[in-house]
Amino acid sequence: MEPIIQAGNKKVYPIIYKPSQNSRDSINCFLVEDAYSLTLIDAGIEHPVYKQFFKEQLAAYGFQLQDISQILLTHHHNDHTGMVNDIVACKEIPVYASDKAVPRLRFEPDFLHYKIVFFERLYRAYDVLHMPAAMQRMAKLKATYEQREQLKVQAEILPLHQSQMLGDFRIHYFPGHSPDSIAFYDESTKWLFAGDIMFANSIPNALVDFDEEGAMLPTVQQQRESFYALQSFELAHVFAGHQPSFTNAKQVIEQSLRRMELKWQRIEQAMQQGERTGQQLAQAVYGTKLEKAFIFVLSDIIGYTHYGEMQKKMTIHKEKEVWLFNNERR
Ligand SMILES: [Zn+2]
Repeated sequence: MEPIIQAGNKKVYPIIYKPSQNSRDSINCFLVEDAYSLTLIDAGIEHPVYKQFFKEQLAAYGFQLQDISQILLTHHHNDHTGMVNDIVACKEIPVYASDKAVPRLRFEPDFLHYKIVFFERLYRAYDVLHMPAAMQRMAKLKATYEQREQLKVQAEILPLHQSQMLGDFRIHYFPGHSPDSIAFYDESTKWLFAGDIMFANSIPNALVDFDEEGAMLPTVQQQRESFYALQSFELAHVFAGHQPSFTNAKQVIEQSLRRMELKWQRIEQAMQQGERTGQQLAQAVYGTKLEKAFIFVLSDIIGYTHYGEMQKKMTIHKEKEVWLFNNERR
């Protein structure tokens, strides 16, 4: 169990879940207590074993579900929202998230339908749509559309905006990992509740996503800019969505930027061999990981090629349904 952190009358109670004994990535959420409130930041995964674990952790700290007075979500991914419906079912409390998280947490049908169209087109362009892992992903997206009423957050989501204050927290947008990634910064304690914007030991994936108009987001560029923006923050303690919390934020940010550069270099190198399809590129850089970690590998390939094109470091020929990539500079 990670220790309880305290500053003045504020206390952080970490709830750290390890899916298995040797899993590197824990799933983290945090209870923040002050004189007036008990805030839950992120809410774990939707799973019976997790729910049991969460309630036991709460009890070990001397709390129960009804004691939570508000929920703050760092982004919409389902490893951060698992307990929301259980908590709001036993007591009506406010649930806050980025304005950009709202259609995603509501599982709005138009949004989900467009998501299917968007990924089908993109996977075809990267020549991976025929792969078993891609077909599985597409089936999952379609199943999500069908089950949207059960899956959605059963509470009104109160939208948060850049620079807004919520109690002692200032809201900061840090897109990259997801378009709706935000962090909660307490200026008095210099604590940052960061969700998945940075991790102690690795770099969060910049997952492919689209904006309100349906255009693909420059996720890699966004992630880079988020790291640069984070450099100007004074950070005493970073509470992350996975892996341990940390106090050496400056080093973690530098390391993350280096890791991003290395990812780009590996892709650039794979293009030395001449014109490549997306699948060939993914195969060359990631090998068997392409099938095993399909969503993450594709997010990297799509994100970094998009980044390379934006930076004019490479060219993407988009004349046909299947795109071709090469390292000619424009
Ligand atoms: Zn996560």
